[in-house]
Parts: sequence; structure tokens; C-alpha cells
Amino acid sequence: MIEMEKNSDRMRVLMPNVRSECLESFGKNDLKAETDLTRNCPIKGCTSKLSKVSYRKKDLPYCGVHGLRLHAKSSTFVYYNGDDKESSKLARLRNFQFHKDYIKQYVLNNPTKAETHRLGHENSEDALSWNVFVPFLDAELLPQLVTWLTGKEFTDPPELYMWGEQVDLNNSASIKGVYKPLEEARNHFEEDIERFKTEPDIMLIIPNKLVMCIEAKFTSGNPLAKEGYKKKEGEKPYDKTGVINRYLIENKWQFSKVIDVEKIKASEKFHTQIFRNIVFACWMAEKMNANWRVVNLVSSTQWEGKEVNKYDFSDPTPVIHDYLNEDYSNCFTFRTWEDLYNDLVNKNSSLEKLGNFMRQKTANLKPAFELNA
Ligand SMILES: [Zn+2]
Repeated sequence: MIEMEKNSDRMRVLMPNVRSECLESFGKNDLKAETDLTRNCPIKGCTSKLSKVSYRKKDLPYCGVHGLRLHAKSSTFVYYNGDDKESSKLARLRNFQFHKDYIKQYVLNNPTKAETHRLGHENSEDALSWNVFVPFLDAELLPQLVTWLTGKEFTDPPELYMWGEQVDLNNSASIKGVYKPLEEARNHFEEDIERFKTEPDIMLIIPNKLVMCIEAKFTSGNPLAKEGYKKKEGEKPYDKTGVINRYLIENKWQFSKVIDVEKIKASEKFHTQIFRNIVFACWMAEKMNANWRVVNLVSSTQWEGKEVNKYDFSDPTPVIHDYLNEDYSNCFTFRTWEDLYNDLVNKNSSLEKLGNFMRQKTANLKPAFELNA
């Protein structure tokens, strides 16, 4: 039923429950060259009249034919099939190209995963990470990926973890929950933290040999310390002193052979999220007497020309190598999605579907990655 409601000085129509049956996902070839999202759907050939859908107390344009909520201000779209829980899951699944059933069963229904509501966003870095790493697992090419990420040869097959839990496509019935050493690290450093405990986006683990944490970025940059930030109850610290105190000084562990805390104090920039990944990787590896690595994987296309604000869009290697003691400086590497494509995916026949996905992937309605032909 359509109701009329008085809203300031105009009448607006409250739509009946917004719904779309569209289950497609969209890439570069599906989009019009230019679109005014306040008036038109960005999908080629679509002339349907946009309706409205409410989002955070605002009404946003909506194409029911293509099931897209349109964010004109940030020039992006979100897959949206309806308000109810099932429709919301269907919508987010449209952003995944590989093993959707697994995502549905073990990620969307998983209460411990932070921010699953963003998985249907065009710019979701979590969806991108899944869509790139899972094909490597499928094609049994994770060892090559580890070697490329670290610059060091590892031959044993690694296990892939996304958001703290193992992706075990063959034996998913025996799902094991959060990686035990990660849980122990959280208990050690963040027992009193509620929102949110440290969660490496991606981990590649070779039992008793290697612990690798990957901090993946897509359109956003690496967060910098927020000086003067007053943290709320149950939050992690975000200022440099707070972070150093919690993760180094107060939680006594043998960090001094790895990290030079005076160098951090003196540095102009401090990348808090990468730092926590380093602490966690190092701490977990020590428990099993393994090597550790932290990789920052970003998009050179998306970072091009973006200025530092609360986020840094430049290679953090010099800052990090400065505070890691010399023996450990090779434990941090900086890589790009574009190089990953050019070096490993392009022309590899067992990664053909991934290659196509990366060529078609968009961010803010434009091709996401500048790639070699
Ligand atoms: Zn449309």
C-alpha cells in the first residue's frame, strides 16, 4: 500500500517495501560512460524511473530493475534487493564471484565478523579480497602467491584465513572458528576491547613455519594515529601513545629485538592498523617458533593523487623499516593489486576467471585497476 506523508512543505510518496529480483553483479562493461546518479541508473540501456530507498535517515535513488541503491555524493552503488534479512543476504552475495554458498553459510551468518553490512558495496575491500584470494586457493597457487608477497620462497602449501577464520572449501563442515593463535593474541592484547578486536583481513599460515597477516586496501588508505582522540568505553586506542602503551609497554613481551619504540615515538607518521598487524603477526609467530610477515596490499590506481588526511595514501615502507630492527625489515612488504594481476594472474589459464573479474572490477563507477594488456 502506498501511503502519503506530510514531509516539511512537500508531499512525498512512501514506497511499499522496496524489492528487486535482480541477482546479477555488474562490472566495467555494464556501466554507462557517465551517469547522474540522482536521476539515472548507471547500467547501460537502463531507462527505468528511479524510486527511493531510505538509508541512514535519508532517501537515496534506487533502481528496482537492477537492484541498486545509488550514492550520488560518493558516486558509487550498493547491491540492494530489499529490507528483509534474506534480501539483504542475496544482495551482498551479488558482490562475490567465487564460492557464494560458502560466503552465505560461513560469513553472512557469522556474528563475529565485523562490518558484514558493507559486503554489498561496490567499493568493499572485503569482497575484493575474497574474490582475489579464493581463486588462488582453488587453483592451488597459494605458494606462488606467498612467494610473490614476501619475496622469499615458501614451498609448503599455506592455509588461507579470511577475517580470522580458515577458508576450507573441501571440509567446511569441520569449521574451526577463529584461528587459535589469533584468539590468544586478542586475549593477550585486547581482552577488554569490544569494538573491534584486531582482525587481519587476510592471513596465510604455514603451520609452524609462517604467519602472514595482510592488510588489504582498495579505495581507502592506511589509517594514521588520531592524536587527541578520546576513546569510548571498550574501544581500542587510536592515538600513538595509547597504541604504544597497550601493544608494547603494558603488555610485556619481548618486542625490543623486533621494534624500536623510540623510533616510533619520533616518527611523523604512525600507521596504527599496520602496526597492530605487525605486533599480532610477530607475537603469534613467536608462539610457534615460525617466521612472520606483514603485507600491505593496496591499489596504485585508487591511491593515485589522493592526499593524506586521516589516512595515508603513500607507501609506508620507509616509516615501518625505520622502526623495525634491521634483522626484521624484510618482514614487511608493500604490494599492489595491479602488480599482483600483472605478475601472477594475467595470462595464467588457471586464473582466467579471476583475470576477467579484475579487468571488469569498478570502484566509484570507473575501472578500478589500470592493468597491463
Ligand atoms: Zn537500472
